Amino acid sequence: MGGSAQIGVSGLAVMGRNLARNFARQGYTVAVHNRTESRTKALVEEFGAEGEFIAAHTPQDLVTALERPRRVMIMVKAGAPTDAVIEEFAPLLEPGDMIIDGGNAHFLDTRRREKALREQGVHFVGAGVSGGEEGALNGPSIMPGGSAESYESLGPMLEKISAKAGDGSPCVTHIGTDGAGHFVKMVHNGIEYADMQLIGEAYQLLRDIGGRSPAEIAEIFRSWNTGRLDSYLIEITAEVLAHTDAATGAPFVDVVLDQAEQKGTGRWTVQIALDLGVPVSGIAEAVFARSLSGHADLRSAAEGLAGPRPTPLPKAEADAFAAKVEQALYASKIVSYTQGFHEMAAGAAEYDWHLDLGAISSIWRAGCIIRAAFLDRIRAAYDAKPDLPLLLADPGFAREIAAAQGDWRDVVATASLQGVPIPGFSAALAYYDALRSPRLPAALTQAQRDFFGAHTYRRTDREGSFHTLWSADR
Ligand code: NAP
Repeated sequence: MGGSAQIGVSGLAVMGRNLARNFARQGYTVAVHNRTESRTKALVEEFGAEGEFIAAHTPQDLVTALERPRRVMIMVKAGAPTDAVIEEFAPLLEPGDMIIDGGNAHFLDTRRREKALREQGVHFVGAGVSGGEEGALNGPSIMPGGSAESYESLGPMLEKISAKAGDGSPCVTHIGTDGAGHFVKMVHNGIEYADMQLIGEAYQLLRDIGGRSPAEIAEIFRSWNTGRLDSYLIEITAEVLAHTDAATGAPFVDVVLDQAEQKGTGRWTVQIALDLGVPVSGIAEAVFARSLSGHADLRSAAEGLAGPRPTPLPKAEADAFAAKVEQALYASKIVSYTQGFHEMAAGAAEYDWHLDLGAISSIWRAGCIIRAAFLDRIRAAYDAKPDLPLLLADPGFAREIAAAQGDWRDVVATASLQGVPIPGFSAALAYYDALRSPRLPAALTQAQRDFFGAHTYRRTDREGSFHTLWSADR
């Protein structure tokens, strides 16, 4: 005999607690469990009135409370704790049951876990969940991997608790087998890093060269948010910049230490891109920029080194400059999404997933941190050409970049002359120019490699591999 709960959630810190509440609010009976029982009790005491919860003292109690096939969602710390919790539950489950890992697991761990549980007949669904604690409660964007069969049973429940896009469609889809969901969540986070870096650079340009105050820049971001840059990150940036520190009365952004931290998903995106041979320079620059900011020792050693200090433009020119920054930001954003989507296509080829890139852009339209009007454009680009090899070559994006590129170059050149670091904008422009260059210095690189290491080269005029005898005594 099975129990009556449709889903069990184990791990009731902020994310698990809010997901459990979300399921309960949608009418599901939810069995809840946490290693430290006080969290289970607190959830039922504080939020028991929101729906049907069954408090489980042990993993066995949770499993007993579930209807069959059983669905156990684990929301614990990624890494070893996730393995430990899987080891606790796996022996208690039967073929056909499923474990859903909603944590931020590395997709290679998810592939390993899925394979091991598949041998036991248990479905393992690695599901990326985006949107933080607020999203978990009110509707996250969900990226589930695992078998198609598991999605048949789990999908309708995830569709109910997920965010809904403007057209009402749920922000969840079956991403692909084994680790596909966590892979796509990883790339999502990498793109988020790039978006945040580009917004940060726009802010610094408007401040140091545009001569605007944080409150004035908040207004500029608000106006951008009514146009093609309409997005959650632009919206919250305006709010942050308009915020004043209660203790000092200073702009809040000025009292925050300028050393960015990171949890690791951006770094994974870059590490995997390196393995796949995919140039994600925008995401890489975002990860490196956070890392550089944290090197207080190096930054203090560099104090006083030669270089210009930016001179704010006269007021009359500042509006025109802000419009150029908007163009540069938009063009750079197209590049970083192009790179992220390339990484997903490469991951699909490497791991034999059938990723629907248009559908993935659709499920990021609500619930997650990178939600933006822009994602509708990406969807349209893949609808028009599902095998689009290069997102920025979509005719619509290509036209917009063509229109933006003059201002983009102007902004990058101005920043360079004024000594304002904008690694994201510059890397994006370099990527764009490298792609469209008829000849690259890679020809010289190949010749050098052949010279010092006899690595051979291919020729422009003949098939085959060649080696030149560079000198008689080599
Ligand atoms: P967390 O701080 O990452 O993890 C705390 C939870 O893990 C607690 O329930 C804790 O139980 C449990 N735990 C840790 N080690 C354990 C072990 N060895 N055995 C059993 N349970 C163990 O919690 P969170 O912030 O809610 O995140 C949960 C997962 O979602 C993580 O993988 C995180 O990366 C991911 N995620 C988080 C966010 C976010 O915005 N926070 C967003 C998306 C995804 P105790 O109470 O007993 O210590």
